[in-house]
Amino acid sequence: MPIIRVALNIPVDTLFDYQSNDATQHDIGLRACVPFGKKRVTGVIIAVGSETQISIEKLKSAHCIFREIEPLPAALLDLFHFCSQYYHHPLGLVIMNGLPVKLRGNKPVKLKESSSNVQFSLTETGKQIDLSSIPARQRVARRLFTELHHTTVLSNLQAKKISPRASKLLQEWIQLKWVSAMLIPAMVTKAAKIPPLTAEQEIAVSAITTDIKQFNTWLLHGVTGSGKTEVYLRIIERVLAHGKQALILIPEISLTPQLETVFRARFPTTHLVSLHSGLNDTERLTGWIQAQRGEAKIILGTRLAVFTPLPDLGLVIVDEEQDSSFKQQDGLRYSARDLAIFRAKENDIPVVLGSATPSLESYYNALTGRYHSVRLLSRAIKNAALPLIQCIDTRTNKTQEGLSEPLIKALDRCLAEKHQSLVFINRRGYAPALLCKACGWTALCQRCSSRLVVHLRDKKLCCHHCGHRENFPRACPHCGNQDIAPFGQGTQRVEETLATHFPTARILRIDRDSIRRKNAWQDILHAIHAQEVDILVGTQLLAKGHDFPNLSLVGILNADSSLYSTDFRASERLFAQLMQVAGRAGRANVTGHVLIQTEFPDHPLYHALQKHDYDVLAKTLLAERKTAGFPPFVYQALLRAEAHNIAIVLDFLKQAANLANPPRSVELFDPVPAQMLRLKGLERAHLLVQSSSRRQLQAFMAEWYTRINTLPAHKVRWVLDIDPLEF
Ligand code: ADP
Ligand code: ZN
Ligand code: ZN
Repeated sequence: MPIIRVALNIPVDTLFDYQSNDATQHDIGLRACVPFGKKRVTGVIIAVGSETQISIEKLKSAHCIFREIEPLPAALLDLFHFCSQYYHHPLGLVIMNGLPVKLRGNKPVKLKESSSNVQFSLTETGKQIDLSSIPARQRVARRLFTELHHTTVLSNLQAKKISPRASKLLQEWIQLKWVSAMLIPAMVTKAAKIPPLTAEQEIAVSAITTDIKQFNTWLLHGVTGSGKTEVYLRIIERVLAHGKQALILIPEISLTPQLETVFRARFPTTHLVSLHSGLNDTERLTGWIQAQRGEAKIILGTRLAVFTPLPDLGLVIVDEEQDSSFKQQDGLRYSARDLAIFRAKENDIPVVLGSATPSLESYYNALTGRYHSVRLLSRAIKNAALPLIQCIDTRTNKTQEGLSEPLIKALDRCLAEKHQSLVFINRRGYAPALLCKACGWTALCQRCSSRLVVHLRDKKLCCHHCGHRENFPRACPHCGNQDIAPFGQGTQRVEETLATHFPTARILRIDRDSIRRKNAWQDILHAIHAQEVDILVGTQLLAKGHDFPNLSLVGILNADSSLYSTDFRASERLFAQLMQVAGRAGRANVTGHVLIQTEFPDHPLYHALQKHDYDVLAKTLLAERKTAGFPPFVYQALLRAEAHNIAIVLDFLKQAANLANPPRSVELFDPVPAQMLRLKGLERAHLLVQSSSRRQLQAFMAEWYTRINTLPAHKVRWVLDIDPLEF
């Protein structure tokens, strides 16, 4: 009797064995529904064999194996295995995290047929196949095949006329690579104009495409507006010409529709799927299956898309590779960028990491030659220069309601010239705190170590960490004083202040609150491009990737708070963010001007920013990190734990530390409370482990992980975080 070994969505690091009458080796990678305790659960078959450690009486039978879709390809299973080992997370959880929600349930999924706007043709391989290799009794198959031979392309509708079974046959032939599917181009009203490459782009494209069939990690380091997208498009074109698939990972933001439009215009007959958090479960499943079948050739997606099955993967691109949204911050704490590199290596294909401000890890890898690097130093559009960046010293130019006189004047000039401007402040809401001027009380979240943010419009105090909302108090709960007031600036307050200064200007606020409505983004982008907006007020949502040709002025408020943070990555992040925001200005024919309000105009970070000199700052930061012994000069891992009480957490971490037996090359630090002690009602602490050898750190963590698993931890939730970004 065959025995299947199944990875289940259960937080223990083991696989489960079941009997299954009809299982064969071909079922590895299929989903199976099995009994677990009193429940039914669905997992993925990892192995099929005839032996088990479980006594035969105790061995249960699987309910069924789902065969409606192809098994997960071996390469994807390898990725899951690697991910499980590297991040020390149970394989079942890793796999279930990576699968579309619809595939996690106990039911078979219903598949949509190929959409009606698809057409099929024989590949070169298909043309070599002789009709006689299809048995005479398979009449439908023979007719369909003959038809494909006679016509160059066969639409889905024509195929269906031959037989209702045609779709299924065509799918099989796609798998066999006899047939390829293409989209029937929609009425392309205006074909995308393909600009001639700039000299720098030319060099980048030819460098990367020279070795298009082997693994290399490329750092495409190009200033904002240097036309990295065009470089991606040209490389993708090459990969598509070889019949391969391209995976493009982008940060978890609203960039997808914009980029999708660009890609669809350039490749109108190529099947593109977009996998992001805005999709419902059915849409995601459909895209995922089209990718698995090799029908979809371009896969554009956020973090989770790194787990898409891609039988013909030929290229991976990670745009804005420094973006922290590539790292999942709960549960399985994987880095999609790092997994993308693993995938490329396994497939022996290139991976391109694009950025204007690479992460110091990637930059260092390029410096040391582990990555190949190509630079784009100037903007792609003729006459578009990098913006002029200046500081406004707020010690001498006092601000009123957060805005200084020189910034107001600059905004005024910009309005007069009918150009757009952007005021950037990375805090949504009206004000970041509610303060009693009599006793100094501020409204705090009961569940988190954070202040409640004032949202004046809905008359609420909100916690931006746990989502808690409460009503405004009438008086200070501490001293009874009625004069309590919002303190500091948030996007809503800046919007209000700007409206009093510029009563006729059309002002648009863009933050997470204002884009909640479905399609809000499209409307906003449309309004900006149609010149229906004069002043934008926005958070970092606006900073990334967008191309607003008429934007000439950017004002930056309240950036100083990150300058002297305890987080060793704060400067790197601030620089990247400001560079990105500044990069929105002057992208086309209007000159860009950036004004930063600061009390520290002589800070080296602002100096580097004004000179657009990423390298000087990166090298300074690298030198600091080297002295202090921080990444990329060491590798880090955290044991994170949380519970209702910090004492329990610290006690657990101490017990875990006692179980550790690190080699000399691995350093274990004392447990410390997290930078934000309380979150969502739980108190958190962590223990840092680091080593200059990734391999030794890994080996130690693997062994320590099994030991920690033996600790009683009913009151504590813990997880390992490899290559942590947050502390
Ligand atoms: P990045 O992603 O590097 O910030 P984009 O890819 O958004 O830059 O390109 C910036 C602008 O330059 C876009 O408007 C794009 O259409 C334009 N562009 C890119 N390459 C060229 C080129 N070779 N010739 C003319 N314009 C270009
Ligand atoms: Zn008070
Ligand atoms: Zn909270």
